[in-house]
Amino acid sequence: MVKIKFYGVGDWRSLASKVEDIWPPWAPRPSFEEVDELYCEEEAPQVVVSEEPVELGNCLYLWSRPDPRSIVLKALQLEYSRRREEASRRTLVTGKPALRPLEFPSADGGCLAPVGCDLCVRACPAGALRIDGGRPAVDGPRCANCGLCISACPGGHMGHTTANWRAWANVANFLRENPGEVSISCGEEADLKVPCIGALGPEELALLASASPLKLHCPDEKCPNRPAAEAALKIAEGLAAAAGGSFSGGVLALPRIDFTASGSKRRDYAELAFRMGLKGPASFNPHAYRVVVDPQRCTLCEVCARKCPTRALTIGREGGEVIKLFFNPANCVNCGLCVRLCREGAIKISEERELGWLRPRAEELDRDEVVRCRRCGAPVDNKKRLLKVARTLGASLEDLAYCPSCRQEATASLLLKALSGRAVGRDK
Ligand code: SF4
Ligand code: SF4
Ligand code: SF4
Repeated sequence: MVKIKFYGVGDWRSLASKVEDIWPPWAPRPSFEEVDELYCEEEAPQVVVSEEPVELGNCLYLWSRPDPRSIVLKALQLEYSRRREEASRRTLVTGKPALRPLEFPSADGGCLAPVGCDLCVRACPAGALRIDGGRPAVDGPRCANCGLCISACPGGHMGHTTANWRAWANVANFLRENPGEVSISCGEEADLKVPCIGALGPEELALLASASPLKLHCPDEKCPNRPAAEAALKIAEGLAAAAGGSFSGGVLALPRIDFTASGSKRRDYAELAFRMGLKGPASFNPHAYRVVVDPQRCTLCEVCARKCPTRALTIGREGGEVIKLFFNPANCVNCGLCVRLCREGAIKISEERELGWLRPRAEELDRDEVVRCRRCGAPVDNKKRLLKVARTLGASLEDLAYCPSCRQEATASLLLKALSGRAVGRDK
């Protein structure tokens, strides 16, 4: 249960009823209460949102204009489940409720660092991230909280309490129902407070701006994170050009599209890019990756498809006679595992600059015919793989075209033939 407590707001009842009116049906249902004690040291007006009993020191306070839309937006920024998990874990260990929200970005359980991804580490300008024990670890004192690691993760696995893909998805879904300009900055007065506007990459900006105009604001020109903020503004400019929108005075407005975010960053962005008709060579990083397979080298051994952690590579069969390798750009996060696993060196990954490429559709990369057993007709393997084995053994394709049980008979038959000089068996 999320509690929204109104403290020091004159007409809190009418405000509470307005918040209730526009609370999205899919978000955790809040209870609206009046605060009758002083919980925080800060002065009113404030809105407190928490799952835990609110006590002095553990409240999360959210400054807000007494504007119901702004209150809902701020509440939706919270990642309820993670906060609850964090609170209950700490409560179990220490017997005390969580004292404060997470301060630095951290990776969730879907992070692909265990298979070799380190895109967030490479994006960190402060050198504050490293992969430790198969997980990105943040060195708190070095972290500038610029959020660049968040926008750099193509899978949306890096997040911050107020800047993570699930929070953005909730906010975008809400904005589609309640449109109106939304201010985003690191300042307390913003409708959506982020660690830095650098936490907004092409995916986040496309998702939010296709729901409502965004006012991006960096309040401090001397901030050490300024380059990250400027990068976000450049992305906004490029996105406006690619989508036929506008970006002026810090306001990004894209054509509104009807879209409900699912919460999966890759799939949401691919679907958005497709529906928005993003076109042209990107002037910004579109996080679109293209896997190319060399059919001369690929033996369709299926290893890449079996191991791809996001199911960007898959195997399909056609009537039991043809085997195909498919690639879906909406799922690929450029982890590089397929390249490392392919023993034939057949896979290459490139970053695709042509935006029309990014679409939630699988394309065929390679195909091969299925070889059937010469005796019983059962499928044995695909032709390219059998040919490779045949070359290695100095045998012919026909020699290997047997299913395991028929092969025993065929081998015995060949042996007898060699020994006795006469053919036996069914395939005489
Ligand atoms: S970029 Fe994302 S998936 Fe890759 S290591 Fe960082 S958090 Fe994990
Ligand atoms: S928020 Fe910025 S400084 Fe901190 S770990 Fe991420 S990229 Fe590095
Ligand atoms: S296709 Fe390759 S690079 Fe893309 S997600 Fe799958 S294993 Fe990683």
